Amino acid sequence: MKIILMGGPGAGKGTQANPLVERFHFPHISTGDMFRAAIKEGTALGLKAKSFMDAGGLVPDEVTIGIVEERLALPDCADGFLLDGFPRTLAQGSALAGILERLGMKLDGVINIEVDEEVLIPRLTGRRVCRKCGSSYHMIFNAPKQEGVCGQCGGELYQRSDDTVETAKNRLNVYNTQTEPLIAFYEEKGLLKRINGDQPIDQVFQDILKALG
Ligand code: ADP
Ligand code: AMP
Repeated sequence: MKIILMGGPGAGKGTQANPLVERFHFPHISTGDMFRAAIKEGTALGLKAKSFMDAGGLVPDEVTIGIVEERLALPDCADGFLLDGFPRTLAQGSALAGILERLGMKLDGVINIEVDEEVLIPRLTGRRVCRKCGSSYHMIFNAPKQEGVCGQCGGELYQRSDDTVETAKNRLNVYNTQTEPLIAFYEEKGLLKRINGDQPIDQVFQDILKALG
């Protein structure tokens, strides 16, 4: 299964990635996670990405497309993958089409998790993420059993530095202007599957499975 998870910041992409990986056993490729790992390791990629991420903007296309191209060429992607947070611009969407063609791969579907804007900001500001395994929680909507501790792996939960109200608003603006056009791009290709993301997490997952057939 080769799929893309799309949706605004906070729509629930990372949350749905976990059960999808359990179900389909494919690699979860999140460009946001890749950039955060690079920043933590202090690599050249991390240095390039940091200022854009801190401001809630997008890391330049040439940087982002390059890391995805390298990742998709690895053998573990041959039978399937889950792209989360990529593509985010029309240029990335066109580049991805070229990469997949060169690799002889075809997408099975593009899942667009749809949530109204006013729901997204509180989701982002209340988000807590596991330092160890990256699992996403929410202080109110998806609280961990034990405060500050990941229920999956016991890791420590933290608040992402870009989950402040101001940065979240910037990310929403960036989504509306740069990422939204990709919905029509994939609709025209007959790949888009619209999912109501404003439902309980399990229900969203069931709807995704149904859409994937
Ligand atoms: P994304 O990866 O799309 O940015 P996340 O999966 O990290 O978003 O989810 C953002 C926040 O919203 C997290 O705090 C998560 O726990 C919460 N969340 C995700 N899905 C739902 C849902 N269906 N209902 C309520 N809260 C949700
Ligand atoms: P995410 O973890 O998906 O919320 O992404 C966090 C941040 O990483 C975004 O706000 C961007 O700054 C950067 N980022 C992640 N994916 C991309 C992408 N495909 N293109 C450009 N920037 C990205």
